[in-house]
Amino acid sequence: MKAAAITAIAAPATIAPAADVIPAKAGAHAAQIWTWLGDIPDPEIPVISIVDLGIVRDVRVAADGACEVTITPTYSGCPAMQVIADAITEALHAHGVKQVRLHNQISPAWTTDWMSDAGKAALKGYGIAPPAQQVIDISGLRAPAGAAARRGAARAENAAGAPGGAATATATVAAAAAAISRRVRPVLTVACPRCGSRHTEITSQFGSTPCKALYKCLDCREPFDYFKCH
Ligand SMILES: [Zn+2]
Repeated sequence: MKAAAITAIAAPATIAPAADVIPAKAGAHAAQIWTWLGDIPDPEIPVISIVDLGIVRDVRVAADGACEVTITPTYSGCPAMQVIADAITEALHAHGVKQVRLHNQISPAWTTDWMSDAGKAALKGYGIAPPAQQVIDISGLRAPAGAAARRGAARAENAAGAPGGAATATATVAAAAAAISRRVRPVLTVACPRCGSRHTEITSQFGSTPCKALYKCLDCREPFDYFKCH
């Protein structure tokens, strides 16, 4: 079966219905098409569908009966996109859709936020840690950090003045410094998908594909892929 060419289009800020779209009819058809697309596995991670992965952005039925599907790659230059495009075309043809038009929308860029909860659960079941929230606490960067340092220094001075306080003072200053450095560093905790331990470390920025990083669990000793946030 001949693959449909992917047309690159600039992303509209809001997807306004085009003049050749029949909204009422398209609604019913589009829902069915979404279901069919939900049966197409991602070629790189077969446990997750392309819909759960969040790369199918829009489905509509045009006036000429063609099914228009807009997809966004997980990252620019993702080699799987042509495979996905072919899979969409083949699946829709198999369901009797004669004409399929694919649009490749690159902006806004795909984000792991578009991945469904079902998709994240499937990833975990497959042994891939789903994208975690990377919490960057910037509250420690300005006033609070300075305040913490001043409090630490004040405690240190008080402690130093007290009998036998020198060691305590050193410890207090070290603790204050550690608290500050903890505040300004981004914290990313990736739980092991096998045992749930958060005692894990990154071993490579790139796992089996560029959108994954390779981690190792320090408790069960198993290496695992982590689906990186975008
Ligand atoms: Zn583990």
